[in-house]
Amino acid sequence: MKLTFWGVRGSLPAPLRAEAIKAKILLGLKEAGLAGVNLQDELALMEFVDNLPVNIGGTIGGNTTCLTLETAGKFIIFDAGSGMRELSRYLMTREFGQGNGHAHIFFTHTHWDHIQGFPYFVPAFVPGNQFDIYYIHPYVPDVLKRQMTAQTFPADFTMLPAAIRFHQLQPEETVTLGPLRVGNIELQHPNKAYAYRVDSADYAIVLATDGEYKRLDRPSIKQYLDFYHNADVLIFDAQYSVREAIIKEDWGHSSALIGADIAREAKVKRLILFHHDPTSTD
Ligand SMILES: [Zn+2]
Ligand SMILES: [Zn+2]
Repeated sequence: MKLTFWGVRGSLPAPLRAEAIKAKILLGLKEAGLAGVNLQDELALMEFVDNLPVNIGGTIGGNTTCLTLETAGKFIIFDAGSGMRELSRYLMTREFGQGNGHAHIFFTHTHWDHIQGFPYFVPAFVPGNQFDIYYIHPYVPDVLKRQMTAQTFPADFTMLPAAIRFHQLQPEETVTLGPLRVGNIELQHPNKAYAYRVDSADYAIVLATDGEYKRLDRPSIKQYLDFYHNADVLIFDAQYSVREAIIKEDWGHSSALIGADIAREAKVKRLILFHHDPTSTD
């Protein structure tokens, strides 16, 4: 089972700014000084850089929501944010480059940050590839087509040569993909978003992005605790700090602390905080 994050930002892509890069270099140099690294020794320097924490030696990333799950012979994609462009590059090095690829794409909802990468999804331009698209909002196919018409994009959706099949799901309907079961639950979000849970014989993964938890009393959150229960991994919308989440009531997002609380209650084994605000630093 391999879970990959191709985009983790909420709302809008957020490339690193020059000041942020300078701050990372400064911190790195300071750390190197403290560690007594010989700056002339290239190998020692590389090893030191490789072991820097992600906030100094790497980045959380600036692309919006796109995740993949490779398991049980299935390739599952969640959402088509700008991270999908990076995913494209990876897939084109695989069977998708030769038109022999097959993926299942699940959409949580159609806000820009979850669909804007689709026009740049190169495997859809390769004849022979197959994509099964699952969604709950009835208008998902229409939105994907509308963002690829002449006014907004040079290539028209209806001309894509790959085989694209749409499957509308009902709220809380479970779809079976070989040995996997994929369920969904509605989240509180402007115009609704849906969390997905993938269950196999030996693990469960939940993607719960774009969700607000305004009421935390048991009856209000019981449905979420049940849906997240015992998951090996819960990927949780942590766009805001607690203070921001209170100020931005009804904006449809949550915070790391709410995530930690819900994950503990639901006996989740591993919590992954996700969908970071584009104004936040690494
Ligand atoms: Zn979003
Ligand atoms: Zn949204």
